Order: sequence, then C-alpha cells, then structure tokens
Amino acid sequence: MPDQLGNRAVVLGGSLAGLLAADVLAEVYAEVLVVDRDELAGVEGPRRGVPHGRHAHGLVGRGQQIFEERFPGLMQELETAGVRPGDFSGDIRWYFNGMQLRPAQTGLLSVPCTRPVIERFVRGRVEKVPNVRFIEQYDIVGLETTPDAGRVTGVRIQTRDGSAGPEVLNADLVIDTTGRGSRTPAWLEELGYSRPSEDRVKVDLAYTTRHYRVPRDPFGSDIAIIAAATPSHPRGAFYYRLPGDDGRVELSLTGVLGDHPPTDPDGFLEFVRSLPVPEIYESIREAEPIDDPVMFRFPASVRRRYERLTRFPEGLLVMGDAVCSFNPVYAQGMAVAAIESQVLADQLRKAHVPPARDFFQAISREIDSPWDFAATADLGYRGVEGRRTAKVRMINGYVARLQRAAVHDDSLTNAFMRVAGLVDEPTALLRPGRVLRTLRQSGRRTPAPAPLAVVRD
Ligand SMILES: Cc1cc2nc3c(=O)[nH]c(=O)nc-3n(C[C@H](O)[C@H](O)[C@H](O)COP(=O)(O)OP(=O)(O)OC[C@H]3O[C@@H](n4cnc5c(N)ncnc54)[C@H](O)[C@@H]3O)c2cc1C
Repeated sequence: MPDQLGNRAVVLGGSLAGLLAADVLAEVYAEVLVVDRDELAGVEGPRRGVPHGRHAHGLVGRGQQIFEERFPGLMQELETAGVRPGDFSGDIRWYFNGMQLRPAQTGLLSVPCTRPVIERFVRGRVEKVPNVRFIEQYDIVGLETTPDAGRVTGVRIQTRDGSAGPEVLNADLVIDTTGRGSRTPAWLEELGYSRPSEDRVKVDLAYTTRHYRVPRDPFGSDIAIIAAATPSHPRGAFYYRLPGDDGRVELSLTGVLGDHPPTDPDGFLEFVRSLPVPEIYESIREAEPIDDPVMFRFPASVRRRYERLTRFPEGLLVMGDAVCSFNPVYAQGMAVAAIESQVLADQLRKAHVPPARDFFQAISREIDSPWDFAATADLGYRGVEGRRTAKVRMINGYVARLQRAAVHDDSLTNAFMRVAGLVDEPTALLRPGRVLRTLRQSGRRTPAPAPLAVVRD
C-alpha cells in the first residue's frame, strides 16, 4: 500500500461490508472511524440494525478465501470457537428438486455459521487495528459537503437516545456501507445529483428461522443439509449445527412468491414436513425448540446502478448491500462485499483515492456475474416478473438438466458448486465436455423425489 492518502476516513455502518472497508482504509488513512447505530463491542448475538442476522448465513468459497487472506487465521479462530467449516460440496448434503447431488470434493471451504458469529470474529480483528475507532449507538443523519456540493467533507451523526445534538465528523473519504436501507440515493437528490437507477427482481421471499436442540445428530461427518429452492420445489431449507457440540441447530426455511414459512410452531413444522427432504423433518420433529420462529421478509433483490451516474460528489463511495442486495438464498452478499473490498484495496494501491466512477465501474463488473446468476435463476419461477429472453430460458433449462445429471456425476456437482461459490464464471458450465456429460447423464433414471405437500411456481 502507498503512504498515507489522508487524515481521516469515515465508514458508515459497522457490519461486514463496513468492517472490510475499514480494514482496507486503515492501511492508508491516519484514522478510520466506523459509525453504527447499534452497540457493537462485545455483542455476541443478533442486533437490531442487522435483522437478517437471525437467519442462516454461509460464507461461500470465494468469500472464504478473501476473508482468510485479509484476516489470516480467521478460519482457525472460528474452528476453535466450535464452528466447523467443510467442503462446499463434499461435506454438505445438497438437495435440488428433491434429489441429492453426488458429493464432490471441490477444495472450496464453506463456513456455515451464524451471521453474528462471523461478524463478531471479523470485528474482533478490526478492533485490534490501532487506527480504527468505532463510534457506536449513533445515527448517521446526513452528509456534509463543500458549498457547491462537489465534495463530501464529512457526515452528521447524532446519539441514538437524543442526549446530544448532531455532531459533524470531518473526513477525507466517506464510505457508505449502511446496507439495503442506505440513504445515499436520497442524499444525492437533496444535493442536486440524480439518484442511481435500480434493477429489481421481485421474489417476495421470506426466511423463517428456529433453533432447536436435537436428540440425535443428523449430520454425521457433514456440516449442513440444504434443500435448495428451485422452480419445481420452491420451498427450501438451510439446516446446520450451531457452534459447539451441544446438539443445538439452526433451521432456516425459505419460501418465495408469498409462500412464506409460518411463524406459528405448528405451521413451521408443517412447512418442514412439506420439504422434499424428509430427513430434515425426521430430525426436527422430536427436537426441543429453543426459541420461537422468527421471520425476515425480502421483497426484492435490488441493484443500484451507481456506475451509470454521470455526476457524483468526490469523497464518497458506496459498498456492500447498499449497492446490491442479492436474493439471499444464493448466499452471495458477504462474498461480494469481500470482492468489493479487494477492488477498493487494489485501487487505493495506485496511490490515490479512486474517482467514484472508476470504483463503481470496477465493482459493477464484479457484481455482474453473481447478479445474473441469481436473477436468471429467479426468472425460472413463473410468478417472478421480468423479461425471459431466449438466453434466460435456455440457461434455466440447461441448469435444471445439469442438476439432474449431477445426481450421478460428481464432476458436474463440482462444476456447479465452483460457480455457486463465485470461484468460476457461469460460462464454465458450458464447456463442451460438461455439456456432453449433462446431456448424457440427465437422461439416467433417478430415484423418485419425495412427494411434496405443496408445489408452487
Ligand atoms: C435472510 C438473509 C440471509 C442471507 N444469507 C447470506 C448468506 O448465506 N451468505 C452471504 O454471503 N450473504 C447472505 N446474506 C447477505 C448478507 O447478510 C449481507 O450481504 C452482508 O451482511 C453485508 O451487508 P452490509 O454490511 O452491506 O449491510 P448490513 O449487514 O445490512 O449492515 C448495515 C449496517 O449499517 C448500520 N446502519 C444502517 N443505517 C444506519 C444509520 N442511519 N445510522 C447508523 N448505522 C446504520 C446497521 O446497524 C448495520 O450494522 C443474507 C441476507 C439476508 C437478508
């Protein structure tokens, strides 16, 4: 990294994207302040500012690699705390369309662990960086700019309890990582700029999550059982152990297009029973619930096209879910935030603060693939609005075939998981050898999928 680029950078939001950004900035700013509305230090469980943190989170291949590069030894620390990372396919029972994919050793680590645990350990690392300071329980209320609004010069913050009036934090650079509710679009408008246009894919998804203590471990040497939602089997589940060996598990159910997993205990159990993976119901039905089911609604994936703006103030960047919040069932958000932090580090390495346009264009190129992967898959559901080009229909037809073929062929499981893990581009699935294997293997007889209580599309 070059020598110092400035005296102070301020990061808005101390969640995962904010923590990654702060760690990168600390290498080139004398001081980095991270502002969040929540209490952060010592917090071990879910927090108000991150309501999605109550639901299943896994760090997929590319994300795991970047987190480990940035915070060497992080995986070992997580393991010491009882988290069990494992192979993204070889150690996870993946079910698509009611059939288990043939496990493959992908060499990619997956970290199924609760969101608060990942955040706590990453925050632990950033808290140790001497020039990073956390400003907790403060609301970010607005931006400070030069009189012509051409440059952001700081932020206005206010204590949550209103005990003091607004304060200004001056900054050479401000990075907004306040998540999907980011107010940068509104602030831009107030300052005389255009809001970014938005791409939306309305999936009307909900996660409902409950924790149990199970009398018998259903996982064996595996780390998770995942019923992936697909258009033919749209109800999904993420099921894995909580850190430690005390039999506690987390079960997140997912349902799209208004078919939301209920929060009443009977309805929740009935939804589990309707999954095309009976082993989850078998494991849960005699388990001891630890809490009540909690729901998180996710109406739409949203991509803000900052890279298309022709005017943008200097001294301000945006990252993480504030730029793009992906349909969470594909588990991409944390990995993409990590990739964006690499882009930031690469650009800062060139010894200047990247012009906003360069930064947004660079992260947009990184967002393209995961966004297309998720949006294309979502358009496989008839009820999701959007243009189904011939390409979208062809890809969805082919991927469904590939998933059927992967029930018999672990090289196809491997290829698919490397794409889902954001390590390979989706075009890797179209290599001639893979197309041939898909065509050959997808015609083979497969075990009949378990009957469904409900089928929607
Ligand atoms: C149900 C669900 C499941 C998911 N599962 C996965 C998964 O398996 N794998 C994966 O990689 N990703 C997953 N994601 C996505 C992942 O949670 C996010 O990509 C990740 O948390 C990074 O988000 P972020 O840091 O950009 O924003 P957030 O996590 O949304 O954090 C925003 C932060 O800003 C603070 N804040 C907001 N507004 C203000 C304000 N005005 N003043 C002060 N502070 C403020 C909040 O307190 C919070 O700390 C999932 C998302 C959802 C919804």
